[in-house]
Amino acid sequence: SLVAGVVAVQGDVSEHAAAIERASAARGESVEVREVRESGIVPDCDLLAMPGGESTTISRLVHSEGIAGEIRDHVAAGKPLFATCAGLIVASSDAGDDRVETLDLIDVTVERNAFGRQKDSFEAPLEVAGLADEEPFPAVFIRAPVIDDVGDAAVLASWDGNPVAVRDGPVVGTSFHPELTTDERIHELAFFETDGASVPGLE
Ligand code: GLN
Repeated sequence: SLVAGVVAVQGDVSEHAAAIERASAARGESVEVREVRESGIVPDCDLLAMPGGESTTISRLVHSEGIAGEIRDHVAAGKPLFATCAGLIVASSDAGDDRVETLDLIDVTVERNAFGRQKDSFEAPLEVAGLADEEPFPAVFIRAPVIDDVGDAAVLASWDGNPVAVRDGPVVGTSFHPELTTDERIHELAFFETDGASVPGLE
């Protein structure tokens, strides 16, 4: 059985846990989900999710709890990490905000709270590269970051001229919240379709 960790210092943790369970069931995999609030759990995890929430808080706590280095090691070992919204901000290489100490796991720079300034929240039908079927993905954006600069990351989806889903080796990041829908296809993509990814250390 797989062990999946959800970084649970803050944010929409239970929604990710439920989506991981659905995605695993869709793949015929059994999974045990653990909430990560302290160090010592991530090393046992096969898969990891970093939720949406408040990126300044998440970044502060993953560092102070000693989880940040474990997340880096997880990714360096080529294991999947899926980071959504605030999670993407924390996983990015630069959030343009001194209060967010990024983990530099996805080679993108982001701008917090910059997507859809006119409207804090919106839903958009997205074409996402590599999804199981052609159906657009119902993407929920909530005070979402804009991805400004894409270095080595691959763009999986764009909306309104900006990348909104990216992959960098074993890491997938979205500016929206797949965990807030009942569509688990992007969790499946992030956790079970890593074959084509160029994984650092394994190339
Ligand atoms: N605005 C939040 C931040 O910058 C992210 C919002 C979210 O995760 N929905 O941390």
